[in-house]
Formats: sequence, C-alpha cells, structure tokens
Amino acid sequence: MLKYLGSSPEEKKPKASGKPASSAGEDSKSPAANPPTVSPGGETPEEQVQVLQQKIEALERRIGYLERIVKLSQILNSTLHLEPLLQIIIQSATELTDTEACSIMLLDKNTGELRFAAATGDRDNVLKKMLVPLDNSIAGWVIRKNRPLLIRDARKDPRWHSGVDESTDFQTRSLLGVPLKLRDKTIGVMELVNKKGDAGFNEDDIQIATTLSAQAAIAIENARLLDELQQAYRDLSEIERLKNDFVSIASHELRTPLAVILGYATFLRDNLKGKASEQLDVVLSSAMRLRALIDDMVNLRHIQTGDLQLQRSIFSLKALILEAVEEFSELASGKQQTLTTRFIPPNDPLNIDADRQRIYLVLANLLSNAIKFTPEKGRIHVQAELKGHRYWVSVIDTGIGIPKSEYERIFNQFYQVEPPLTRRYQGMGIGLSIAKGMVEEHQGRIWVESVVNKGSKFTFVLPTGPDVADKT
Ligand code: ADP
Repeated sequence: MLKYLGSSPEEKKPKASGKPASSAGEDSKSPAANPPTVSPGGETPEEQVQVLQQKIEALERRIGYLERIVKLSQILNSTLHLEPLLQIIIQSATELTDTEACSIMLLDKNTGELRFAAATGDRDNVLKKMLVPLDNSIAGWVIRKNRPLLIRDARKDPRWHSGVDESTDFQTRSLLGVPLKLRDKTIGVMELVNKKGDAGFNEDDIQIATTLSAQAAIAIENARLLDELQQAYRDLSEIERLKNDFVSIASHELRTPLAVILGYATFLRDNLKGKASEQLDVVLSSAMRLRALIDDMVNLRHIQTGDLQLQRSIFSLKALILEAVEEFSELASGKQQTLTTRFIPPNDPLNIDADRQRIYLVLANLLSNAIKFTPEKGRIHVQAELKGHRYWVSVIDTGIGIPKSEYERIFNQFYQVEPPLTRRYQGMGIGLSIAKGMVEEHQGRIWVESVVNKGSKFTFVLPTGPDVADKT
C-alpha cells in the first residue's frame, strides 16, 4: 500500500448495505419510486440495482485513482530531486495498476538507445547499467509509434527484447508500455510488467500509466533544467574566479615593469631637451594611461570581491575637486573646452570624512568622460553643494548625451553605449561602474540625467561623514 498517498481504491468500496447514491427518490425512473417489473434491457430490478452498484464502484475506484494522482502531483511538486521522484512515480504506477514491476527508460539522443532511469526494487541497480536497442524492442516500438502498447504475453511477441530478463532473472509476461511525452517530443517509455491476476491490462491501466508518465516527463525535464542551471552557475563562478586571478596576476606582473618604464622615462625627459623630450612625453603619457587602466582593473576587482577597504580621513572636498580639475585642465584645453567650478557655500572648505583617493577616482572618471564625450569648444562644469548632511557633486557637460534607456546600464561593467566595433571613443567601459562602487561604499548614490546631443549631468551624493563637524 502506498504509504504517502493515503487510502487505496479498495478502501473506497461502498459498504454492502449502501444504497446507490443516485437521485433516488426524485428520479421517476428510480427503482424505489416506480418499480418496473422488467427493464427495456430485460433485467429484473435486482439486476438493475446490481448493474448500478457496479457502475458506482467503478466510479468510486476512479475517484480513488484521481485522488491519489492529485496527491502524487503535490508530492512531485514539492521536490526537484529526480531519483526519489522517479521512484515515487514507478511505485505509484505498480500499486495503482496492480502490477509486479515498472520501469522508466529514457532515449539517449547520442547513441539512439534506451537507458533505464528507474525501475522497481532490486532491479534498479542492474537495469541502470543496461541499454535497450530501439530496433527489436517493445520500448523502441512505443517510442517510434508514440502510442501505448498492451501485450498479453511478451515472450511470444517478436518485438520483445529478451536481454533484460536474461540478465535480471525476471520473467516478463504481460506488458504495458506508454510513451513519455514532453511537448511535441517523446523522451522515453514507461513500462508496466505482469498485471496480477488473470484479467490482463485494461483501459484504466493505460490511463493511469499515461497520466503518471506525463508526470515523470515533467519531473525529468525540471531536473534537467535545474541541472543545467546549476552547471551554468558553476561555470560562471569558475569564469569569475579565473577572471579575478587573471586580473590579480596581470596587474601585479604589469605594474613592476611599468614602474621601471615610468621611472626611466621621467628621468630622461627631465634630462633631455628638444625633439627627444617631446617623444618621451608621448611615452610617459601612454605609460600613465596604462597604469590608470591597471588601477581601474584592480579597483573593479576589489569592488566585486567586497574587499574595498576605505581609508577614511577628513579632508576638503573643495580642494580635492580643484586638484582634479587642475589635473584635467590640460586635456580639456587640448580640445579647447572650458572647465569651470562652483561651490556652495562659496567660502566653505566642504570638509568630508571619506576615502580621499577613492573620491578622487570618482571625480577623475566623471571628468575624463565629460571631456572625452564632449566635442571641441564644449563646456564642462563641476559644482559641489552642501545640503543638510550631504554633499551633492555634479559634473555637467555639453557633450553627446545619453539616451534615457541607457541611464542604468552605463553603470554596468564593460557597458558602453556605442557598439564595440564602431566605437569612436577609447575606454574599457568600467569607469562608471568603479565610480558607482566607490560612491556606494561611502553610502552614497550616483545617477545621470541627460539630453542626447545637448549634454549630460552626472551627480553623486555623499554623506559628510560621521564626525566632520567635531574634528574640524
Ligand atoms: P568608458 O568611458 O571607458 O567607455 P565608462 O564606464 O566610464 O566607460 O562609461 C560607460 C559608457 O557611458 C561610455 O562608453 C559612454 O557610452 C557613456 N558615457 C559615460 N559618460 C558619458 C558622458 N559624459 N557623455 C556621454 N556618454 C557618456
């Protein structure tokens, strides 16, 4: 008896004394209301009652099956582990159809053979190692014809594959095979073997097996999807690990020779005059760009791995902004852009408790973007304002602008509005994701507002920091 499915159909049988639950009393044709001597079919009232009782019993048996199938689907929905699910299905199938054994075979797309996914009792382990060919097997026939097959004596059937019985010391007699259908595909077969008693398999058995095989197909598909998803997660974290390792190794290995290049180039430029000194300027600025890229990669990694340790101190945000603007002024004047600042309140140092180097990086990323994405003779304006316990810092440009649909995405790593192959601007697409990571690490916020072909305004808001007022 099924432990987990509640009462069996036998328990639902009506009591011997129970009256038929029809509309007795109201129905003018009911034997009690209008007792006929002989029915049109020639049965006596007693025979009619007996026929009705048999029909009721059959209906009650069906209701019993359905109740158990509903309970079964509740159990199946509660777990995604394939092995126990298939075991529950085959056990239910043997009990509901009153058979000796049941198995589920799945089609291996690569070899075109059938593999056992589950079978009743001890045979499970042995069968799982066996393969059943599609040709000359009943299971193969069911798959190819995509319909149930009912056989009284399998051993006399030319399609029967005797290999399984031979290796498991089992004797197959009657057999019912139903296809395992998933949408428009047949993925396997469920076989019920040896109906108990003499009656053989019937329509009810086909229906039960078909319903259960549909459940099995869904369970198998869900488990496969779960498996794929878990594999994808594993692959993703492996790629993430490899990327992090690569970034650490590459940045470490690149930094040392780069420091040597920067050192020698600076020394030579300071000691050489004329054309050579100009050429060394180019070497220096390229080397510095390379160093900035490496720093970006390292910072991004720290943000991702959550080991960004803020080095807090109290400093003037105004002085930091002026320092950044000074650093980028040469780049801006190269494009004949004007670079202006405004501070509110004007005579306040705008002290802040934060990581100076990291906030400088935010400003540097926003400023370099503003200069890069603004055409010649454009304007760039930086303003900082104290509002309550927060600083609002905006970098405003008159550049190419950003469509509203991209406002969020530009803060994602490696995302650039222009497609990579036709890009006109340099960059790796990580500056804004670093800026966002740094700002958020300070419990701040960063966002953009923009009008395409008119310009963009990047704003970040930072708390002044816990003890600014006391320590200054
Ligand atoms: P990168 O500048 O290296 O491409 P970022 O992460 O700094 O990477 O910026 C991502 C994208 O956001 C840029 O490629 C660009 O499409 C867009 N963007 C950023 N700043 C601006 C700006 N001031 N004006 C127009 N587009 C911008």
